[in-house]
Amino acid sequence: MKKAEIRKKAYGLAVCLFAFLLSACSGLSVRNKQERTLFAMDTVMSLCIYGSSSDLDASETLIKSIEKQLSVTDSQSDIHKLNESGTFSVSSEVHELIEKALDMCEQTDGALDITIYPVVKAWGFTTGEYRIPESSELNGLLNMVDYSKVKLSEEKVVSLEKGMELDLGSVAKGYTGDRLMLLLKEQGVKSALVNLGGNVHTLGRKPDGSLWRIAIADPDDISSYLGYVEIEDKAVVTSGAYQRNFEESGKKYHHIIDPQTGYPASNGLKSVTVIGESGFECDALSTALFVMGLERSIDFCNNNDSIDAILVADDGTVYITKELENIFVIQNGASVKVILK
Ligand code: AMP
Ligand code: MG
Repeated sequence: MKKAEIRKKAYGLAVCLFAFLLSACSGLSVRNKQERTLFAMDTVMSLCIYGSSSDLDASETLIKSIEKQLSVTDSQSDIHKLNESGTFSVSSEVHELIEKALDMCEQTDGALDITIYPVVKAWGFTTGEYRIPESSELNGLLNMVDYSKVKLSEEKVVSLEKGMELDLGSVAKGYTGDRLMLLLKEQGVKSALVNLGGNVHTLGRKPDGSLWRIAIADPDDISSYLGYVEIEDKAVVTSGAYQRNFEESGKKYHHIIDPQTGYPASNGLKSVTVIGESGFECDALSTALFVMGLERSIDFCNNNDSIDAILVADDGTVYITKELENIFVIQNGASVKVILK
C-alpha cells in the first residue's frame, strides 16, 4: 500500500472513530438525566429532561419568555398592557392563545371566563392581600366579566370594553407545557417530565421504556396522594380548592371563581384532574369542570372524547372516566365510580 493511501485510510479511520465517539457521547448525553427547579408563573416548577444541560437552559428561557408575555402583574407584558389600555396589538402567540382560550370559554358555557380578572383581583389573589369583597362590589365587577365581548382583529389587536381585564392564569401553565414539549421534541429529546406547579407534562416514556407514574394529590391531605396514573405523551392537570386559598373566621376562600356569582366556586367538587394530549385543553378544562361542579362535569366528560378526568366530590367519592378504569390506581381506599362514556 502506498504511503498516501495508508495516510488516507488512517485519516478515514480517525474520522470514523471520532464520529463514533461523538455519537456515543451524544447518545450518552441524550440519556443523561438533567434536573432543575425554578420559580416562575407564581409557582415552583421542576424539570426532568433526559438530554443535555442546554435543553434545560432552553426550557427555562422559554418558560420565562411566556411568563413575560402573559403575566398580569409585569408592567411589560402584553396582557398587562392590554388590561391597562383596553386595546393592544399583541404578539401572534398571545393572539392565538387568547383565541383558543375564548373558544374554551364558549365550549364550557362560560364556566371558564378569561375576563374574570377584576373579580380575582378584588379577592386579593393577585397580590396576596386577601379580603372578602362585599356582594354589591362583586355584582358591580361581574358586569365587566363577559368573554364574548373580547374583540380580536386580523391585525392581532385585542380590544376590551371599559373596565374589562384578562387573566390567562387558568391556561398559561398548560399552554407552556405544550410549548415545552414541542421545543424538547425539536431538540431531539425523547424522554422528559415537567411539573409546572401541579401541571404535569410528559414526553415519551421513561428511558427504560416504562410509563411515567403520576401521583394525584389527595385534596384533603396534599402531603399524601389519592392514587396514580401511568401515562406517556400526555398532560395531567389538577385544579383544586386546596391549591391557593386563605382563611377568615374559620372559612376557607379559594382562587377558582364561579363567574355566575363572583364567589369561589362551590359546586360539589374538591378537585378535578384532567388527562389528555393537549396540556392547554387539560388546564382550561380542569378549571372549568371545577366551576361546573359534579353533575355538569359528568355530562361534559360524557360528551368530550379528547380528555379523561378524575373528579373528587365533596363527599370523597372519586369519579373517573371509563378509559381510566385500568389506568388509575387508587391508593387510599376511597370509593371510585366510573362515569359512563
Ligand atoms: P387553575 O389553577 O388552572 O385552575 O386556574 C386558576 C386561576 O385562573 C386563578 O388563580 C385565576 O387567576 C384564574 N381563574 C379563576 N377562576 C377562573 C374562571 N372561572 N375562569 C378563568 N380563569 C379563572
Ligand atoms: Mg386551569
